Amino acid sequence: MDFTELTIKSASELLAHKKISAKELGQMSLKRIKEVDDKLHAFLYVAEKEAMEQAEKADQLIADGENFSLTGIPYAVKDNILVKGMQATAGSKILENYKATYDATVIKKLNEELPVMMGKTNLDEFGMGSSTENSAFGPTKNPYDLSRVAGGSSGGSAAAVASGEVLFALGTDTGGSVRQPASFCGIVGLKPTYGRASRYGLIALGSSLDQVGVLAKTVEDTATVFQIVAGQDDHDSTSLSKPVPDYDKFLKEDLKGLKVGVPKEYFIDGMDPEVAEIIKNAIKTAEELGAVVEEMSLPHSSYALACYYVILPVEISANLSRFDGIRYGLSVGGNSLEEVYYKTRSAGFGPEPKRRIMIGTYASSAGYFDAYYKKAKQAQQLIRKDFTDAFEKYDLMLTPTTPIPAFKFGEKSDPLSMYLADVFTVGLNIAGVPGLVIPAGLTKSGLPVGVQLVANHFAEEKLFMAGHALEKSLNLKLKTNL
Ligand code: GLN
Repeated sequence: MDFTELTIKSASELLAHKKISAKELGQMSLKRIKEVDDKLHAFLYVAEKEAMEQAEKADQLIADGENFSLTGIPYAVKDNILVKGMQATAGSKILENYKATYDATVIKKLNEELPVMMGKTNLDEFGMGSSTENSAFGPTKNPYDLSRVAGGSSGGSAAAVASGEVLFALGTDTGGSVRQPASFCGIVGLKPTYGRASRYGLIALGSSLDQVGVLAKTVEDTATVFQIVAGQDDHDSTSLSKPVPDYDKFLKEDLKGLKVGVPKEYFIDGMDPEVAEIIKNAIKTAEELGAVVEEMSLPHSSYALACYYVILPVEISANLSRFDGIRYGLSVGGNSLEEVYYKTRSAGFGPEPKRRIMIGTYASSAGYFDAYYKKAKQAQQLIRKDFTDAFEKYDLMLTPTTPIPAFKFGEKSDPLSMYLADVFTVGLNIAGVPGLVIPAGLTKSGLPVGVQLVANHFAEEKLFMAGHALEKSLNLKLKTNL
């Protein structure tokens, strides 16, 4: 049996039929991590001992016949999500020695089914970036081409799934951090509706934009994990109590009668022609499956990036103020409280958090607030209305995920060109709507390209439905050479 070929679905069938044990699956995952992670650097921490203990408990559950769809399934968690007793660095020196004191709600929920957590994955510092080059612990490489980035900020989670180290992973998505690395690594990535899942126990980046996301090999696997992760949580007042539907029921094989909009603003100058070609082929496939596809407009799209890069830094400057050398992680001594703050932050934060803290503090300070933050919040309303108006007419939208496939290390060395990598993903976070990325093809040089499906608030089931049908029809069978 080739571990790298398994999905959650096939592995849980093997477990249920006692063809394999959770312990054996966990060992296969560890073996694969040992084989390839020196090259990839997807993991910041491999939880060998903890995983084996959890696998034993999973085997007990299976022996008692009380297993669930995720029991015994090896997975990984982005290192900005809290797992009690384990490191949670958020990719930053400032939290290098910090250990989580409680489980994030999403971890707690997963633990009820006893999947096996293999470790914590790499990310851009606090989630700021699109390549994991901003991780204080070194970048993650793309499993399809080691000279290229895995994307970011959940690059470690994406590379871990794509290379077959684990069967699924959790990430977070504030502006594209699940969808963009999923696209770069040839896997499925879901960013849910804002408020659909709990943020309790995520190290906050932009609290009004952050959502936990799922990275997996198939749409069906993604839906299986999200079924557990979704739902209201008393610890997060922004999570909503709308009932979570049974996503499984929506996995159909055609798109008959579905109205799909293709926003013309998402096909821009400078877009890689191979990416455009692959997205056009996905549109054609959707039509063949019975969807009615139409070009349409999201007129305020061009403001999304500017709006995001004001709102997010303002929230960052507030959220990161807790890292001051007193309560969490790194503390550099000094003669006064101010000196401790100053020295700790100077030593602990990398250049990107420093840059965004400065931008955010400036944009929200007296005298500038109206011109920047208030303006950005007004633009947010227009962008949000573009989406909700469009969903009166369309069930879904279909767009590219990024203008280019995975780029080379160092290629986007100025911050602005890195920010531009998020041009098609940030709009969804600004509007709060969900998005699903599925692999749509490979470039001639063998780099994966994902297509992004967008649905209205709380309509994740439509994403799974269309994603599943497209995935079956495209039938890509992607595999790395690792
Ligand atoms: N690349 C985006 C940024 O740097 C996305 C971040 C995210 O989704 N966490 O802000």
